[in-house]
Order: sequence, then structure tokens, then C-alpha cells
Amino acid sequence: MSSTFQAPKGTYDILPAVSGTVLAVRDALAAPLRRAGYSYIETPVFEDVKLFSRGVGESTDIVTKEMFNLVKRGKEELALRPEMTASVLRATLQANLHRSGNLPVKVWYSGSQYRYERPQKGRYRQFWQVGAEAIGAEDPALDAELIILAVDAYRSLGLKNFRMLLNSLGDRTCRPVYRAALQEFLRGLDLDEDTLRRAEINPLRVLDDKRPEVQAQLTGAPLLADYLCEDCKAYHEQVRELLTAAQISFEDDPKLVRGLDYYTRTTFEFVHDGLGAQSAVGGGGRYDGLSEMIGGPALPSVGWALGVDRTVLALEAEGISLTQPSTNAVFAVPLGEQARRVLFALVTELRREGVSADFAYGAKGLKAAMKDADRSGARFALVAGERDLAENLVQLKDLTTGDQTPVALDALVATLKEKLQ
Ligand code: ATP
Ligand code: MG
Repeated sequence: MSSTFQAPKGTYDILPAVSGTVLAVRDALAAPLRRAGYSYIETPVFEDVKLFSRGVGESTDIVTKEMFNLVKRGKEELALRPEMTASVLRATLQANLHRSGNLPVKVWYSGSQYRYERPQKGRYRQFWQVGAEAIGAEDPALDAELIILAVDAYRSLGLKNFRMLLNSLGDRTCRPVYRAALQEFLRGLDLDEDTLRRAEINPLRVLDDKRPEVQAQLTGAPLLADYLCEDCKAYHEQVRELLTAAQISFEDDPKLVRGLDYYTRTTFEFVHDGLGAQSAVGGGGRYDGLSEMIGGPALPSVGWALGVDRTVLALEAEGISLTQPSTNAVFAVPLGEQARRVLFALVTELRREGVSADFAYGAKGLKAAMKDADRSGARFALVAGERDLAENLVQLKDLTTGDQTPVALDALVATLKEKLQ
């Protein structure tokens, strides 16, 4: 450590050695969405804290334990966003996007999220998601579309060891009946006070409890699949058929509920088998009631969020490295003051012509500067001293072959552009 300060607990810096991969992952996760009519959206990193308590759910870990509240003039009115669905829906309602055109409103985002969690590998207090929301339509094809786009994104990165878990959470007709049955069952179990309280507020969340002693007691729990109404059953069957027709494999997971309160009907999670405990690389589902929960009209919607950090870890686990283009095509090495001015001007001109170029900064000797040129990954080094300039020349050195040729100054940009074609 060579500084007084360190990144805050649970955060990390995305340094040049991996930042190329991170950017490539974000691009790859978004590319299928952009081809499917989703437009980019950005929202603030903080929002009214009530948007999250109402929109994400009072009984969720995210709201009860993981929220980063901001104190403003002594009051906690704002919070850093723990996820983006509530924000995106808030923005949609605020701008009346749902009234200004055809439904669904289809948007995608890429951004950092904040949760006060216990930091571990793959679990951070600041992490990144690429996500998509399709707002204002109830259509099994839309649920299927989003799932297909996520799978295509993972596949485009070369990932193989991921699986999708699928479930239906029912709707306002059938879920209450199931909820009551589950509550009845949970009351008969040997659970701690916290869990019993959760069973009263949101019993479905208890199914998601990761503790083995809780899971062991849940073996005989009633399953939502047995309580789905005819509409929900038919809807879910259509989603499954569309996925199968698109060669998407999935595993029915009747206990999948996920950590947010707003989900209805289609619910899914992507897990990667090379990541240990933090195996979820993405997840999402339908949230038909969320708009009304935050004061809007009925807007049945569906969306997902994919974790960028864990996708990068999944690539590592599968030994996949995304090839990055070499950063610079040309590296200029001036010998002497006059050469510095001439080559600096040439580098500027090359960049303006679309050729990536860098320069040996600092007073360095030829040997050290040539080492920098090699390290930069450039195809060509541009070397010039007093004698070359007196003849209006620069030396162009191909760093892969070692061949060096003199090129007239006024022909240099054209020559390089041709050689780099
Ligand atoms: P988990 O069960 O691992 O806590 P989650 O259900 O809380 O995940 P979501 O809220 O559905 O996760 O977020 C979608 C994705 O964002 C996750 O699948 C995961 O890849 C990523 N993610 C969530 N929390 C974190 C975190 N603290 N650090 C890194 N990535 C995260
Ligand atoms: Mg979580």
C-alpha cells in the first residue's frame, strides 16, 4: 500500500488490466437488447428512500438490512439505489412515457448499484448491472423475449456453464390463497423470531432462506405450482413453450421466489456453476403490481438485471478471455527538441485521422522509449532525430518484423493509414 487511503470496504477499483473485459461484458450484455428495440435510459444514483421501501418491499433484506441511506439535513430521505427497476418505473411514470407511444415501453440500463452487504467474492457493496425493463404489456412472448435475450448475451460471451431456473409466482387471484396456506404451514415450524415475523409479512420470502436448518423444515411446504389459477397456469405454459421453441433450456424450480417483493407470474434466475456461493449471475421476472405500489396506473411489466461483476468472474471460471484490440497503432519516439515538436504534431494529426497513436513522454533515452513502444502494443514506432528532420524524413519501424524504412514527412499519414488497413 503506497497511499493513506484505500477503497471503502466492499468496493474495488476496476483497473486497466481488467477494465477492457468489464467494458466488453457490458457491451455484450446490452447488444441483444439494442437489436430488439430497447432504448437506453439513465436515472439518478439516489432516490427518495420511500421509492425503494415501497417499490422493492418492506420485508426484503434489500430494504431492511442492505440500504445505503443518505442523511440530508439530519433526515434520511434519500438512499443510494440498490437496484434499478423501481427507478426506471418512477422515471417512466414521471415522464408519462407510458402514455406517449406504443406499449410496451422497452428500455435498458447499465449502472452501479449499492447494497450494504457482508463483502465476499462476488458480493460487493457497489456492483454493476446491465438490465432491461418492458413496461406496460402482459404477453408471454415478452417474458420469453427477455429470457432469450439474456441467454443470447451469455452465449455471445462464450459462457457455457450457466443454467436458468424458472418459476411462476401467480397473480393477485391465486397468490393470496397460496400465501395463506404457506403461512399456516410456517406457523407450525420451529423458526426463530425474525423468521416468524417475516412469515407474517411475506411468507414467500421464507422459501428463499439459505440456512440449511430452515431449508430442512421446508421439505413438506405447500408449493405455489399446485395453487396457480387457470390464467396463470396457461400463461406460464405459453412462456415455457416459447422458450423451448427457441432452444432455451430451463429447470422448473418451484421454490424460486427471489429477493424482491414485487414479482408476479414469471420469475427466473441465471446461475453459474463455477462461482461457489455467489452463483446467481442474473435474474428477473414479471412485476405486474409494482406501478400501482408506487402510485401509478396498472402497468403489467417484466424485466431482468444481469450482474456484470459476477459475469466477469464466470468468464474467469470458464477460462474465457475476451480478446481486446491492441490499444495503439503507432508510438512516436522523438530524439531531441525539434523532433518532439514535429512528432507531437504528427501524433495529433494521426489521432484526428482516426489512427490511434501515443507518444514517449518525459525526457527518455532511445532505449527506454523503444521499450515503452514495445509495451504499448503498437504495430509501428515512429522515430525521428535532427538528421531525419533535416531531410524531411521520419523512420517507420514495424515492431512485429523489426523492419525500418524512411518515410517522407508529408507522406506519413497516408502511408500509415494504408499499412494499417
Ligand atoms: P443474491 O441472491 O446473490 O444476493 P440477488 O437476488 O440479491 O442475488 P438481484 O437483486 O436479483 O440479486 O440482482 C441481479 C443480479 O445482480 C444478481 O444475479 C447478481 O449477479 C448481481 N448482484 C446482486 N447483488 C450483488 C452484490 N452485492 N455484488 C455483486 N453482484 C450482485
Ligand atoms: Mg441479494
